[in-house]
Amino acid sequence: MSLAGDYDGNNIFAKILRGEAPCVKLFEDEHVLAFMDIFPQSQGHCLVIPKNTTARNLLEFPADRLGTYFASVQKLATAVTKAFNCDGVIVTQFNGAPAGQTVFHLHVHIIPRYANLPLQPHHGGKPADLDVLREQAARIAAAL
Ligand code: AMP
Repeated sequence: MSLAGDYDGNNIFAKILRGEAPCVKLFEDEHVLAFMDIFPQSQGHCLVIPKNTTARNLLEFPADRLGTYFASVQKLATAVTKAFNCDGVIVTQFNGAPAGQTVFHLHVHIIPRYANLPLQPHHGGKPADLDVLREQAARIAAAL
């Protein structure tokens, strides 16, 4: 599936939103859910997904909801930088398989950068230890 296509209600993020699949949650309100990426590109890598949408990517998301969504992304990126005292932070998202998208429910990545430390690849990295992710999620939540 790429830029064009129908929303698959059984994609992994839809299942997480319905409580049918687990995630290491760090924040939730009526608009968004934020959780740790299980294949982190760096320590503290998390994802922010909008609720109540069938947007597979940014191009399909209603413009009048972008402000609320990105306010949450900004709030979480700020908490991540405080929690990990990182030197920089990547805030990014991918639209369509050729752009690197693998899960077709709109999501934004928050990826801390540390000076002189390389990133793990966007795909094909190592899965994280769940206890480590839980500790990191708690640290971010405490910084909110
Ligand atoms: P993208 O390639 O931009 O579509 O990103 C999808 C991201 O979701 C990747 O970074 C994956 O590591 C991550 N991911 C996939 N499944 C899960 C899951 N069950 N829990 C947390 N992160 C996931």
